[in-house]
Parts: sequence; structure tokens; C-alpha cells
Amino acid sequence: IPLENIRNFCIIAHIDHGKSTLADRLLEITGAIKINSGMQVLDKLQVEKERGITVKAQTVSLKYMLNNKEYQLNLIDTPGHVDFSSEVHRSLAACQGVLLVVDANDGVQAQTVANYYLAHGNKLKIIPIINKIDLKNANPEKVEQQLSTIFGINGDEIIKISAKHGTYVDEVLKAVVERIPKPTCVRDKSLKVLIFDSWYDSYRGAVLLVYIKDGIISTGDRITSCNTGKSYEVKLLLLLRPEEEKVNKIYAGQVGCIICKMKYDEASIGDTLYLYGNPVEPLPGFNTTKPMVYAGVYPVDSSQYHSLKNAMDKLTLNDNAVSIINESSPALGQGWRLGFLGLLHMEVFSQRLEQEFDTPSIFTTPGVVYKAKIFGKKNITHYKSDEVYFCNPSHIPNISIVKEMYEPTVLGTIITPGDYYQSILHFCLERRGIEKSNKNIDESRIILQFILPLNEIITDFHDELKRMTSGYASFDYEDYGYQLSDIAKMEILLNGRPVEELSTIVNMSKSVSKAKKICAKLLNVIPRQQFLISIQARIGSKILARENLPALRKDVTAHLYGGDVTRRIKLLQNQAQGKKKMRMIGNIALPRKVFVDLLKT
Ligand code: GDP
Ligand code: MG
Repeated sequence: IPLENIRNFCIIAHIDHGKSTLADRLLEITGAIKINSGMQVLDKLQVEKERGITVKAQTVSLKYMLNNKEYQLNLIDTPGHVDFSSEVHRSLAACQGVLLVVDANDGVQAQTVANYYLAHGNKLKIIPIINKIDLKNANPEKVEQQLSTIFGINGDEIIKISAKHGTYVDEVLKAVVERIPKPTCVRDKSLKVLIFDSWYDSYRGAVLLVYIKDGIISTGDRITSCNTGKSYEVKLLLLLRPEEEKVNKIYAGQVGCIICKMKYDEASIGDTLYLYGNPVEPLPGFNTTKPMVYAGVYPVDSSQYHSLKNAMDKLTLNDNAVSIINESSPALGQGWRLGFLGLLHMEVFSQRLEQEFDTPSIFTTPGVVYKAKIFGKKNITHYKSDEVYFCNPSHIPNISIVKEMYEPTVLGTIITPGDYYQSILHFCLERRGIEKSNKNIDESRIILQFILPLNEIITDFHDELKRMTSGYASFDYEDYGYQLSDIAKMEILLNGRPVEELSTIVNMSKSVSKAKKICAKLLNVIPRQQFLISIQARIGSKILARENLPALRKDVTAHLYGGDVTRRIKLLQNQAQGKKKMRMIGNIALPRKVFVDLLKT
């Protein structure tokens, strides 16, 4: 297929606006799948089917005839959720154009805005599409106005469709051919291949999803990685239509899969491959997306440490936005600290671990990375720089050497019906937000911007926002850097002894309420012992909250009425065994479960 006849594009949209449905229709029209095959073909992962969201970008090559010419349209379906924006970023690297899909009823939403600017910034041709015109309360005129107000899009560029019924979807295919430029590639140059996704297949090892930037790749070629310098023989080349089609060659401008017995820890997304002996300048990789949210991950049982490690390695091949470092905790044993792009990202990761690798795990409450500026060399410290980053409360530098504390913030965009303005404002202020702007986008909707501490939005912010607006508000955020913050380490004491793994980092303005909450929760989860336990929360030397857990005499053999001696001995042995597995705080034995209950989300 000549380059003139190839188009590479992706579909981007706010969640639920119909990306996957449109992708299915495009597949049907071009004969790639049978009409009415039902399920969304491109959402392959179990978690995607259950949650009805797209997590991984999927790719498919379509054959399309227009004016007696055959075109190859390479379509990449992308996830719309903020947390998966790294997938969107990557997909864009292989595209020359995008279909920007907007729901005719919901209109422009927070992720529509984010996605638009992403495509715009990558200088891609944008084809605006208003979807779901079949809905009774569809209001395409209003959406048209929003697109014009926010992005300056002309009405005559917009294609109005119903992806569900297939209405005017052929117009979309025509526009792809007519408006999106051909790929800028050179076929008679040395081979240059961009890896933009990869996944692990138990039979074939790493499968690489690639974009051929220059040259031609053939089975049997020897290829070398710019990253590692290692070479591989190309065993198999595939096009996805969406069924795999074996081919002998893939030409520049096309998207396909390479199988070359690469080990999963050698396949890195963003890497460039070249023909052995013909090195090329590596393609610009991807701005490595940096994790925003960190959580500890531990095996449910310490004997599962290795199988969990193995599963995580394989899963991170497919999701390189996750970062991993080793961590251990006296209560939970050996584990890791993982960095995620957001909370949904973290949930999906843990769900995939369990579903695709059958490895249960404990995830601790997520936190963010703080920064401390410390006094310079005059102090005898082991720090290499005067800026210290930490997320684990036990790594917080001693207050005596800290000049200033900082926490990460985001610029949040909220699109909502104007009626909710007051309650959203109140809510964001309570989350320590600062209003930056507010603007009408049509007669009933507004777009708001807030600067918010990341820590305030990583747990339940989005859910709360949805709840208070009956689902009408949408939210997206981008990194806004570090800002001064009044944070401190809050310790928990049991009978006067600090329990390191229960320490947290808190903002002073919320310290008392948080202290009370943790003490009350501990009162419920700590098993009563033969003596009284005082539970205290403190910052520095100041006690912020206190609870007392009354004593209880617990005799495991009490209900046995003497009779069965062997049984009695066995029970006592069990109790002693159990004690060994417990974490001792002074003379208080805390079962692992207490920590799991407290630390997990
Ligand atoms: P995605 O999250 O952008 O991939 O959205 P989906 O394609 O999964 O669609 C979300 C929901 O909208 C599904 O329930 C679809 O059936 C529905 N939907 C998609 N397109 C249309 C359409 O043109 N008309 C109507 N009525 N519903 C649609
Ligand atoms: Mg989808």
C-alpha cells in the first residue's frame, strides 16, 4: 500500500461519549468484523468489560475503498479517563489525526478539553464529531456552540452522527481519508521503528506494538534496540484487523506487531529499533509520565512474595506508567511502593493483578510525594541536597532541619451546570482549593478552574463531585507543581509507644479532625487485651486525640470445662503460634489484620 493511501488516527473523547462504539461501527463498515457482533470488540481486558471503560489503547488496521482506491486506515482506540492519559499520549505519537468525539447530550466535558489541547499541541488534524444525535434530548446545536466558544471550531467542520445506529458514520471514514494527512515517513531510508505499546503473552513472550517510522521490516530481519543495544531476530509480524494477520513485511507508515523473543523486562515502550548494523538516531521517546499517587503493596501472605513480584513485572510491561521500588514494613513484611497516575489507575492495576495473574495483594492508602527544603551543610545530615522528597511518613526529615515544606498541587478543570456553582465552590474550598477562573461556555454550563492540593483529590474527590452534582459535573486535572504547605508527621501511640507504620503526613489545618478519626477507627479494630490500652495521636509533643480501649480477660480455654486435655493444649499452642505472627508494640500484640484494615484503602 503506498503511503498516500495510509491514514493513522485515533479516537479521543470524554468517557462514555462513544469512542468504543464508534470504533466498532468503523470496523463493521469496513468489513473487519460482522455486523451486530454485540460486545465492544476493542475492549479486551476483563476489567474493561466489567467497568465499561477502556484502559488500554487498542489498535486495528482497516481496509477502506474510496473512489476505487484502497486505503489502509490504522485506528487506535484510546481510554478517555485522566488516569490513562499516558496511553493517549503514546497513541498520538503514531497518528496524524484524531476524531474528537463529543456526546450530543452531555456536551463538552473536562476530558474533552484536555484531549483537545493534547491533540492540538501535537499538531494533529482534529475532526470534531458530535455523537448520539439519535438521543431524544440530544442538543447538537448547543454542543456546536460550545465547540465554537471553547476551541473556535467552525460548524461546517463538525460531523454529526449516531455511532449506535451507524448514522453518518461513513462520512467519518470519508473525512479520515480527505482531511487527515498521509504519514510523514520514508520507505527507502534505514529502518526506524517506534515501540508504542507492548504486552506479555505466555507463549510468545513480549509482543511489541510498533509504528514503522522509516524503512521496511521483514520476518527474519535482525533488529537492535537503541535502549539496550541487544539484538533480536524477527520471528513473526502481525497486522491486527482486529484478528491477527501474519505478514512478511510491514512498511513505513503502518502500525503492527513484532514478536522477536524479547524478554519482558527488555521491551520498553518509547524505545526505537533499527536494523542490526544500521544504527539510527532514536525517535523522541515519550515524556515519561510521572506517577502522582503512591501506595504500598504487599503480598496477602509473605510466601506469595515471589509470585506477586513476577505478576507485577509482567503487568508493568503492559503498563509502564507504574513505578516500583522495594519497601518493607515491620507489620506487613517485604513489599513495594508503587507509583500510579491516579486512583482509578491504581484500582485497575490491583484488579488486573488479581484477575489476569490470580495474585491477591494488599494495597495501602495512597499518598503523594512531599518536598522539604532543609538547611544547608552547617547541619550534619545525610542528605545530599537541600531538597528532600518523601512520601513515606517515616522518611520525613526531622523538623529541626526543615526550612519549608511543600506539597504537590494540580490545576483542576470542572465543567458543570451553573446551578451547582455554590456547592462546588464550597466543596473545593473545604479541600483547600483556590478558585482560579470561572467562565460560561453556553447559557447553562460553566467551566471552573481550581488549584488544589493533589492529596485532597486522590481519594474521593471525583466521587464526591459526581454525587453532589448528580453526575453532571466532570473533572480533569494537570500537574501544577509544588506549593508551600503546612504539613507534619502525625504519630500514633499505643500505651505511649509510637507505632511507626501507623504514622501519617497531615496538613495542620486538618490535623485534629484526622487525629480523632484515626483514634476512633483504631478503637474499633484493635482486639481488646488483658489490660487497658491508651490510643493517642500526636504531632511533635502535642497530643491531638485520645481513646481508651478497656481491658478484657481473654482465656481461650474457658469454654472447654476442663475435659479434653489435648484439645486444651492445642489451643494454647495455637495462641502462642499466633503471637509469633503478631507485631508487638511493647506488650501489645497486634495481628497483621489490624494493619491491613487500617492501611488498605
Ligand atoms: P467510550 O467510553 O467513549 O468508549 O463510550 P462507549 O462507546 O463505551 O459508549 C458509552 C455508552 O454510550 C454505551 O452505553 C453506548 O451504547 C452508548 N452510545 C454510544 N454511541 C451512541 C449513540 O450514537 N447513540 C446512543 N443512544 N447511545 C450511544
Ligand atoms: Mg470505550
